[in-house]
Amino acid sequence: MMPVLFIGHGSPMNAVEDNKFTRKWKEIAGLFPNPKAILSISAHWETIGTRVTAMIKPRTIHDFYGFPEILFRQEYPAPGSPDLVSKIIKMAGKVEIKADETQWGLDHGTWSVLLQMYPESNIPVVQLSLDKNKTSRQHFDLAEKLQPLRESDVLILCSGNIVHNLGMIKWTKTGLADDAYSWATEFDEWIRNSVSTRNTEHILNYHEMGKNAELAVPSAEHFLPLIYFTGLRHQNEGVKFFCEKIVGGSISMTDILTQN
Ligand code: ZN
Repeated sequence: MMPVLFIGHGSPMNAVEDNKFTRKWKEIAGLFPNPKAILSISAHWETIGTRVTAMIKPRTIHDFYGFPEILFRQEYPAPGSPDLVSKIIKMAGKVEIKADETQWGLDHGTWSVLLQMYPESNIPVVQLSLDKNKTSRQHFDLAEKLQPLRESDVLILCSGNIVHNLGMIKWTKTGLADDAYSWATEFDEWIRNSVSTRNTEHILNYHEMGKNAELAVPSAEHFLPLIYFTGLRHQNEGVKFFCEKIVGGSISMTDILTQN
């Protein structure tokens, strides 16, 4: 059975940089056999209703501004997988998932990570969108329905950030600040602890952590991939954490891999 992976993707520059986060992503890819296909749930694709990319050749989307030219030249030409798309739609049952053949592709939440993990881009990749109208519980329920994909060699990549507040990022003259806001550290720790102890209610009702949650999750999209991770994890599975670090004060780079 394939593990489930939550990656804190952070800056799009991680696609091309060699740093402690990207080295860890490469290391994680070496911890299990290459999957037959990858389903990615990225913070960067929000829709009304759930969609799945159904193109034979999904395009690489450069969904960011103000970054160096080198980032706009990157391509991730992995094939799509019509076979995986029909499985996903079937497994979701009454939860309607529409096949997207023209609109989306692979956004940087997906390809910035996969370029480091699987640079050959020869494993088929499908993206699932985040339905803005679903509650945390509905996202969790959908994730649970997709659990059996793991038994057919599909790696599920949940790509977001546990703490993600772009408006409060701290800079120094040389780049992102190295120290973290206390609310960022506290929220990240609280969530990691909830993941370790399998406290699904804490994760689904993260906003109940009050002020810390308001600051750490000003909008849900980067947190929602963690809810998919939670729903995709089996009852008896442990977890391993990587890259427990907050960059720029307000972005948590925590990664989580399920362990059998
Ligand atoms: Zn992002």
